[in-house]
Amino acid sequence: MRRPVLKIILRLGRYAVLPVVAIACAILATWLMIMDRYTIAALATVPIVFSIFTVAAALMIGLLLLPSRKHRSFEASEEIAPGLWAMWKELDPTFVRSRRTLLIDTDFNASIEEVSRYAGLFGQHVTMTVGLPLLIVLDEPAIRAIVAHEVAHAQLRHTSGGANLRDFISASENMLFYADPDRTITGRIALALLHSMLEWLEREYRALKRENELGADLGAAERVGRSEMARALVMTEACGTRLTDLVFAPLEKEILGAINAPRPPLDRIIGQLEDIRAHEPMIAAAVAGLDRENDPDSTHPPLGKRLANLGYTDIPEIGEIRTSAINQLLSRDAVRDLPARFDGEWRKKTQAWVSVGR
Ligand SMILES: [Zn+2]
Repeated sequence: MRRPVLKIILRLGRYAVLPVVAIACAILATWLMIMDRYTIAALATVPIVFSIFTVAAALMIGLLLLPSRKHRSFEASEEIAPGLWAMWKELDPTFVRSRRTLLIDTDFNASIEEVSRYAGLFGQHVTMTVGLPLLIVLDEPAIRAIVAHEVAHAQLRHTSGGANLRDFISASENMLFYADPDRTITGRIALALLHSMLEWLEREYRALKRENELGADLGAAERVGRSEMARALVMTEACGTRLTDLVFAPLEKEILGAINAPRPPLDRIIGQLEDIRAHEPMIAAAVAGLDRENDPDSTHPPLGKRLANLGYTDIPEIGEIRTSAINQLLSRDAVRDLPARFDGEWRKKTQAWVSVGR
Protein backbone atom coordinates (compact mmCIF):
# COMPACT_ATOMS: atom_id res chain seq x y z
CA MET A 1 0.00 0.00 0.00
CA ARG A 2 2.78 2.40 0.97
CA ARG A 3 4.87 2.13 -2.19
CA PRO A 4 1.94 3.07 -4.47
CA VAL A 5 1.23 6.14 -2.30
CA LEU A 6 4.89 7.12 -2.50
CA LYS A 7 4.85 6.63 -6.29
CA ILE A 8 1.81 8.90 -6.59
CA ILE A 9 3.54 11.60 -4.56
CA LEU A 10 6.73 11.26 -6.60
CA ARG A 11 4.70 11.65 -9.79
CA LEU A 12 2.31 14.42 -8.70
CA GLY A 13 4.47 16.37 -6.26
CA ARG A 14 2.53 18.93 -4.29
CA TYR A 15 -0.62 18.20 -6.28
CA ALA A 16 -0.79 14.88 -4.42
CA VAL A 17 -2.46 16.83 -1.60
CA LEU A 18 -5.48 17.32 -3.88
CA PRO A 19 -6.95 13.81 -3.31
CA VAL A 20 -6.79 14.51 0.44
CA VAL A 21 -8.65 17.77 -0.08
CA ALA A 22 -11.18 15.98 -2.30
CA ILE A 23 -11.85 13.36 0.39
CA ALA A 24 -12.33 16.11 3.00
CA CYS A 25 -14.82 17.88 0.70
CA ALA A 26 -16.69 14.60 0.16
CA ILE A 27 -16.92 14.11 3.93
CA LEU A 28 -18.28 17.63 4.35
CA ALA A 29 -20.83 17.12 1.56
CA THR A 30 -22.04 13.83 3.08
CA TRP A 31 -22.26 15.46 6.47
CA LEU A 32 -24.39 18.30 5.07
CA MET A 33 -26.70 15.75 3.42
CA ILE A 34 -27.28 13.71 6.59
CA MET A 35 -27.80 16.89 8.60
CA ASP A 36 -31.58 16.91 7.94
CA ARG A 37 -32.23 13.30 8.72
CA TYR A 38 -29.83 12.66 11.62
CA THR A 39 -29.58 16.09 13.14
CA ILE A 40 -28.26 14.99 16.52
CA ALA A 41 -25.57 12.73 15.07
CA ALA A 42 -24.60 15.52 12.71
CA LEU A 43 -24.34 18.05 15.53
CA ALA A 44 -22.27 15.65 17.66
CA THR A 45 -19.71 15.26 14.87
CA VAL A 46 -19.35 18.99 14.21
CA PRO A 47 -15.86 19.25 15.84
CA ILE A 48 -14.51 16.32 13.81
CA VAL A 49 -15.93 17.40 10.49
CA PHE A 50 -14.94 20.98 11.13
CA SER A 51 -11.34 19.94 11.96
CA ILE A 52 -11.04 17.80 8.86
CA PHE A 53 -12.30 20.63 6.73
CA THR A 54 -9.98 23.18 8.35
CA VAL A 55 -6.99 20.95 7.65
CA ALA A 56 -8.16 20.46 4.07
CA ALA A 57 -8.62 24.20 3.59
CA ALA A 58 -5.16 24.85 5.09
CA LEU A 59 -3.66 22.21 2.77
CA MET A 60 -5.35 23.87 -0.19
CA ILE A 61 -4.13 27.36 0.72
CA GLY A 62 -0.68 25.94 1.52
CA LEU A 63 -0.61 24.36 -1.93
CA LEU A 64 -1.66 27.51 -3.74
CA LEU A 65 0.70 29.83 -1.91
CA LEU A 66 3.79 27.67 -2.09
CA PRO A 67 6.88 29.83 -2.50
CA SER A 68 9.01 28.81 -5.49
CA ARG A 69 12.35 27.15 -4.88
CA LYS A 70 15.49 28.94 -5.95
CA HIS A 71 18.86 27.30 -6.36
CA ARG A 72 21.98 28.87 -4.98
CA SER A 73 24.55 27.15 -7.12
CA PHE A 74 26.44 28.61 -10.00
CA GLU A 75 24.98 28.15 -13.48
CA ALA A 76 27.68 27.02 -15.92
CA SER A 77 27.19 28.00 -19.57
CA GLU A 78 28.88 26.20 -22.46
CA GLU A 79 31.65 28.83 -22.44
CA ILE A 80 32.37 28.18 -18.79
CA ALA A 81 32.23 24.37 -18.89
CA PRO A 82 32.70 23.31 -22.54
CA GLY A 83 34.14 19.89 -21.69
CA LEU A 84 31.41 19.04 -19.21
CA TRP A 85 28.67 20.01 -21.67
CA ALA A 86 30.32 17.97 -24.43
CA MET A 87 30.52 14.98 -22.10
CA TRP A 88 26.83 15.31 -21.20
CA LYS A 89 25.84 15.52 -24.89
CA GLU A 90 27.96 12.51 -25.79
CA LEU A 91 26.55 10.30 -23.03
CA ASP A 92 22.91 11.31 -23.31
CA PRO A 93 21.13 10.23 -26.53
CA THR A 94 17.99 12.21 -25.61
CA PHE A 95 19.95 15.40 -25.21
CA VAL A 96 18.15 17.47 -27.85
CA ARG A 97 14.70 16.64 -26.58
CA SER A 98 14.67 18.61 -23.35
CA ARG A 99 16.03 21.85 -22.00
CA ARG A 100 19.15 21.57 -19.87
CA THR A 101 20.82 23.48 -17.09
CA LEU A 102 24.26 22.67 -15.73
CA LEU A 103 25.00 23.83 -12.20
CA ILE A 104 28.24 23.74 -10.27
CA ASP A 105 28.16 23.74 -6.48
CA THR A 106 30.58 23.11 -3.61
CA ASP A 107 29.64 19.53 -2.64
CA PHE A 108 31.74 16.44 -3.26
CA ASN A 109 28.77 15.05 -5.13
CA ALA A 110 26.76 15.14 -8.36
CA SER A 111 23.01 14.94 -8.94
CA ILE A 112 20.37 15.25 -11.62
CA GLU A 113 16.85 16.56 -11.41
CA GLU A 114 14.01 16.77 -13.85
CA VAL A 115 11.16 19.19 -13.54
CA SER A 116 8.11 19.03 -15.77
CA ARG A 117 6.27 22.28 -15.42
CA TYR A 118 2.50 22.35 -15.76
CA ALA A 119 2.18 18.55 -15.90
CA GLY A 120 4.78 18.25 -18.66
CA LEU A 121 2.90 20.46 -21.11
CA PHE A 122 6.04 22.44 -21.89
CA GLY A 123 8.42 19.49 -21.87
CA GLN A 124 11.02 18.50 -19.34
CA HIS A 125 13.71 20.64 -17.86
CA VAL A 126 16.73 18.63 -16.77
CA THR A 127 19.22 20.10 -14.31
CA MET A 128 22.52 18.39 -13.58
CA THR A 129 24.62 19.59 -10.66
CA VAL A 130 28.29 18.70 -10.40
CA GLY A 131 30.35 19.60 -7.34
CA LEU A 132 33.56 21.56 -7.88
CA PRO A 133 35.53 19.41 -5.37
CA LEU A 134 34.66 16.39 -7.52
CA LEU A 135 36.13 18.13 -10.59
CA ILE A 136 39.26 19.13 -8.67
CA VAL A 137 39.99 15.80 -6.95
CA LEU A 138 38.96 13.24 -9.59
CA ASP A 139 40.24 12.80 -13.13
CA GLU A 140 38.31 12.97 -16.39
CA PRO A 141 37.49 9.22 -16.76
CA ALA A 142 36.01 9.18 -13.25
CA ILE A 143 33.87 12.26 -13.96
CA ARG A 144 32.75 10.66 -17.24
CA ALA A 145 31.49 7.60 -15.32
CA ILE A 146 29.74 9.88 -12.81
CA VAL A 147 28.04 11.89 -15.57
CA ALA A 148 26.99 8.58 -17.21
CA HIS A 149 25.51 7.53 -13.86
CA GLU A 150 23.49 10.76 -13.65
CA VAL A 151 22.32 10.39 -17.26
CA ALA A 152 21.20 6.84 -16.44
CA HIS A 153 19.15 8.20 -13.52
CA ALA A 154 17.39 10.54 -15.94
CA GLN A 155 16.80 7.82 -18.49
CA LEU A 156 15.43 5.39 -15.91
CA ARG A 157 13.11 8.20 -14.84
CA HIS A 158 14.47 8.38 -11.31
CA THR A 159 14.77 12.12 -11.57
CA SER A 160 11.38 13.73 -11.27
CA GLY A 161 10.64 12.18 -7.86
CA GLY A 162 13.08 14.09 -5.66
CA ALA A 163 11.89 17.56 -6.56
CA ASN A 164 8.26 16.45 -6.42
CA LEU A 165 8.66 14.90 -2.99
CA ARG A 166 10.29 18.06 -1.64
CA ASP A 167 7.50 20.09 -3.19
CA PHE A 168 4.88 17.88 -1.59
CA ILE A 169 6.58 18.07 1.80
CA SER A 170 6.81 21.85 1.69
CA ALA A 171 3.18 22.11 0.52
CA SER A 172 2.16 19.92 3.48
CA GLU A 173 4.34 21.88 5.90
CA ASN A 174 3.03 25.14 4.51
CA MET A 175 -0.36 24.04 5.83
CA LEU A 176 0.88 24.73 9.38
CA PHE A 177 1.06 28.44 8.59
CA TYR A 178 -2.70 28.39 8.17
CA ALA A 179 -3.50 25.88 10.93
CA ASP A 180 -1.17 27.08 13.68
CA PRO A 181 -0.18 24.13 15.94
CA ASP A 182 0.61 26.49 18.83
CA ARG A 183 -2.81 28.05 18.89
CA THR A 184 -5.33 25.57 17.48
CA ILE A 185 -6.16 21.97 18.30
CA THR A 186 -6.69 21.28 14.62
CA GLY A 187 -3.18 22.50 13.96
CA ARG A 188 -1.78 20.30 16.69
CA ILE A 189 -3.49 17.20 15.31
CA ALA A 190 -2.36 18.13 11.80
CA LEU A 191 1.22 18.51 13.02
CA ALA A 192 1.19 15.07 14.68
CA LEU A 193 -0.27 13.43 11.57
CA LEU A 194 2.15 15.28 9.34
CA HIS A 195 5.14 14.18 11.40
CA SER A 196 4.35 10.48 11.21
CA MET A 197 3.48 10.75 7.52
CA LEU A 198 6.68 12.59 6.65
CA GLU A 199 8.73 10.10 8.62
CA TRP A 200 7.56 7.09 6.63
CA LEU A 201 7.67 9.04 3.38
CA GLU A 202 11.33 9.88 3.95
CA ARG A 203 12.13 6.31 4.95
CA GLU A 204 10.45 4.79 1.89
CA TYR A 205 12.04 7.39 -0.32
CA ARG A 206 15.52 6.60 0.96
CA ALA A 207 14.94 2.88 0.30
CA LEU A 208 13.75 3.66 -3.23
CA LYS A 209 16.77 5.91 -3.81
CA ARG A 210 19.13 3.11 -2.79
CA GLU A 211 17.50 0.78 -5.32
CA ASN A 212 17.74 3.50 -7.97
CA GLU A 213 21.48 3.97 -7.34
CA LEU A 214 22.14 0.34 -8.26
CA GLY A 215 20.06 0.71 -11.43
CA ALA A 216 21.92 3.87 -12.44
CA ASP A 217 25.31 2.20 -11.82
CA LEU A 218 24.35 -0.60 -14.24
CA GLY A 219 23.03 1.91 -16.78
CA ALA A 220 26.28 3.87 -16.60
CA ALA A 221 28.33 0.65 -16.90
CA GLU A 222 26.63 0.03 -20.26
CA ARG A 223 27.94 3.37 -21.51
CA VAL A 224 31.42 3.63 -20.02
CA GLY A 225 32.16 -0.01 -19.16
CA ARG A 226 31.94 -1.87 -15.87
CA SER A 227 35.53 -1.32 -14.87
CA GLU A 228 35.34 2.48 -15.39
CA MET A 229 32.18 2.67 -13.30
CA ALA A 230 33.71 0.53 -10.53
CA ARG A 231 36.86 2.66 -10.58
CA ALA A 232 34.81 5.86 -10.21
CA LEU A 233 32.86 4.36 -7.29
CA VAL A 234 36.02 3.33 -5.46
CA MET A 235 37.67 6.70 -6.07
CA THR A 236 34.63 8.67 -4.95
CA GLU A 237 34.38 6.62 -1.78
CA ALA A 238 38.10 6.79 -0.99
CA CYS A 239 38.58 10.46 -1.84
CA GLY A 240 35.41 11.32 0.08
CA THR A 241 36.92 9.77 3.20
CA ARG A 242 40.29 11.42 2.59
CA LEU A 243 38.61 14.82 2.11
CA THR A 244 36.75 14.45 5.40
CA ASP A 245 39.91 13.43 7.25
CA LEU A 246 42.27 15.98 5.73
CA VAL A 247 40.04 18.96 4.97
CA PHE A 248 36.52 19.03 6.36
CA ALA A 249 37.02 17.59 9.86
CA PRO A 250 40.03 19.83 10.69
CA LEU A 251 38.21 22.81 9.19
CA GLU A 252 35.15 22.24 11.34
CA LYS A 253 37.34 22.10 14.43
CA GLU A 254 39.11 25.32 13.47
CA ILE A 255 35.86 27.18 12.90
CA LEU A 256 34.63 26.36 16.38
CA GLY A 257 37.51 28.23 18.00
CA ALA A 258 37.99 30.87 15.33
CA ILE A 259 37.80 34.65 15.62
CA ASN A 260 38.40 35.13 11.92
CA ALA A 261 37.23 32.84 9.13
CA PRO A 262 39.96 30.21 8.61
CA ARG A 263 41.50 29.22 5.28
CA PRO A 264 38.54 28.27 3.03
CA PRO A 265 37.82 24.68 1.89
CA LEU A 266 38.56 24.76 -1.86
CA ASP A 267 41.88 26.49 -1.28
CA ARG A 268 42.74 23.71 1.18
CA ILE A 269 41.65 20.98 -1.25
CA ILE A 270 43.84 22.41 -4.01
CA GLY A 271 46.74 22.80 -1.58
CA GLN A 272 46.51 19.23 -0.26
CA LEU A 273 45.63 17.51 -3.51
CA GLU A 274 48.67 15.26 -3.45
CA ASP A 275 47.92 14.04 0.09
CA ILE A 276 44.25 13.48 -0.68
CA ARG A 277 45.14 11.32 -3.69
CA ALA A 278 48.05 9.44 -2.08
CA HIS A 279 47.62 5.85 -3.22
CA GLU A 280 48.15 3.82 -0.03
CA PRO A 281 45.76 5.74 2.27
CA MET A 282 43.23 5.90 -0.55
CA ILE A 283 43.18 2.12 -0.89
CA ALA A 284 42.94 1.81 2.90
CA ALA A 285 39.92 4.15 2.88
CA ALA A 286 38.31 2.13 0.07
CA VAL A 287 38.85 -1.16 1.94
CA ALA A 288 37.31 0.38 5.07
CA GLY A 289 34.37 1.51 2.93
CA LEU A 290 33.91 -2.04 1.68
CA ASP A 291 33.03 -3.21 5.18
CA ARG A 292 30.39 -0.56 5.73
CA GLU A 293 26.92 -1.91 6.44
CA ASN A 294 23.67 -0.77 4.88
CA ASP A 295 22.64 2.51 6.56
CA PRO A 296 18.85 3.06 6.64
CA ASP A 297 19.41 6.84 6.85
CA SER A 298 21.50 6.96 3.71
CA THR A 299 20.23 7.51 0.17
CA HIS A 300 23.18 5.52 -1.19
CA PRO A 301 23.90 1.80 -0.77
CA PRO A 302 27.28 0.94 0.79
CA LEU A 303 30.30 0.56 -1.52
CA GLY A 304 30.41 -3.24 -1.15
CA LYS A 305 26.86 -3.57 -2.41
CA ARG A 306 27.43 -1.21 -5.34
CA LEU A 307 30.57 -3.08 -6.40
CA ALA A 308 28.84 -6.46 -6.04
CA ASN A 309 26.05 -5.09 -8.26
CA LEU A 310 28.70 -4.53 -10.95
CA GLY A 311 30.15 -8.01 -10.42
CA TYR A 312 33.09 -7.22 -8.11
CA THR A 313 33.63 -8.99 -4.80
CA ASP A 314 36.70 -6.95 -3.92
CA ILE A 315 38.25 -3.52 -4.59
CA PRO A 316 39.35 -3.56 -8.25
CA GLU A 317 42.70 -2.16 -9.38
CA ILE A 318 42.10 1.60 -9.77
CA GLY A 319 45.52 3.00 -10.58
CA GLU A 320 46.43 6.52 -9.54
CA ILE A 321 44.78 9.86 -10.14
CA ARG A 322 47.30 12.03 -11.96
CA THR A 323 45.20 14.83 -13.42
CA SER A 324 42.26 16.97 -12.35
CA ALA A 325 39.15 16.82 -14.51
CA ILE A 326 38.60 20.54 -13.95
CA ASN A 327 41.49 21.40 -16.29
CA GLN A 328 39.93 19.51 -19.19
CA LEU A 329 36.27 20.23 -18.52
CA LEU A 330 36.09 23.89 -17.54
CA SER A 331 37.41 26.95 -19.37
CA ARG A 332 40.75 28.33 -18.28
CA ASP A 333 39.09 31.39 -16.73
CA ALA A 334 36.65 29.23 -14.77
CA VAL A 335 39.47 27.03 -13.45
CA ARG A 336 41.10 30.17 -12.09
CA ASP A 337 38.03 32.10 -10.91
CA LEU A 338 35.45 29.57 -9.74
CA PRO A 339 37.26 28.15 -6.67
CA ALA A 340 38.12 31.70 -5.55
CA ARG A 341 34.53 32.81 -6.07
CA PHE A 342 33.06 29.94 -3.99
CA ASP A 343 35.75 30.40 -1.33
CA GLY A 344 34.95 34.12 -1.20
CA GLU A 345 31.26 33.38 -0.57
CA TRP A 346 32.21 30.80 2.05
CA ARG A 347 34.53 33.24 3.80
CA LYS A 348 31.84 35.93 3.96
CA LYS A 349 29.30 33.53 5.45
CA THR A 350 31.77 32.02 7.90
CA GLN A 351 33.05 35.43 9.00
CA ALA A 352 29.51 36.51 9.82
CA TRP A 353 28.98 33.27 11.70
CA VAL A 354 32.16 33.41 13.83
CA SER A 355 31.56 37.09 14.63
CA VAL A 356 28.08 36.28 15.96
CA GLY A 357 29.49 33.35 17.93
CA ARG A 358 31.94 35.53 19.83
ZN1 LIG B 1 23.00 8.35 -8.18
